Amino acid sequence: MNLILMGLPGAGKGTQAEKIVEKYGIPHISTGDMFRAAIKNGTELGLKAKAFMDEGNLVPDEVTIGIVRERLSKEDCNNGFLLDGFPRTVAQATALEEMLKDLGRQLDHVLYIEVPKEDLFKRLTGRWICPTCGATYHELYNPPKVAGKCDKDGSQLIQRDDDKPETVGKRLEVNLEQAQPLVNFYQGKGYLRSLDGNKEIHEVFNDIDNILIGSNK
Ligand SMILES: [Zn+2]
Repeated sequence: MNLILMGLPGAGKGTQAEKIVEKYGIPHISTGDMFRAAIKNGTELGLKAKAFMDEGNLVPDEVTIGIVRERLSKEDCNNGFLLDGFPRTVAQATALEEMLKDLGRQLDHVLYIEVPKEDLFKRLTGRWICPTCGATYHELYNPPKVAGKCDKDGSQLIQRDDDKPETVGKRLEVNLEQAQPLVNFYQGKGYLRSLDGNKEIHEVFNDIDNILIGSNK
């Protein structure tokens, strides 16, 4: 089963990936992990990627695609894979299509966990931490008893820069802009399976499961 998992930050991709891997026994291949492994193993492409990253540059497509190809050719991908974080662009998606054709396989589904931007914003900006004891809270899932104060020591809670509204808003904007052409591309090809990511975690997985069961070979 050859799958791509898509979703904006905060949509719950990581959680669903774990569940898919557990049930279907295919490897979860995230771009970050793949790069780290290629660099650690000192492969030619890994070293190339590292050179770009060390300079603070984006890794060019040809290198990224090469690394994906190396990874998908490994034995543990014989029964399928769950790609996460790749492709990011239509150019990469097209390259992936070619690559899979060469490897004699094809995509089954592109699972897209959809959550409205406003809800993602609430999920991602809700996190607060205590500077004194390190306790973490979330406005929606785990609020402190008194707003803005730590339950344990009463300290004023603070937000990490990454969780601040301006940062989150920008990150979502950028990700959405990047994802949309890809979503359209896969919709046009008939691979896109949209999932309502506002449902409970187990319900979202149930929906994914129903799609996968129908196509498990
Ligand atoms: Zn505290």
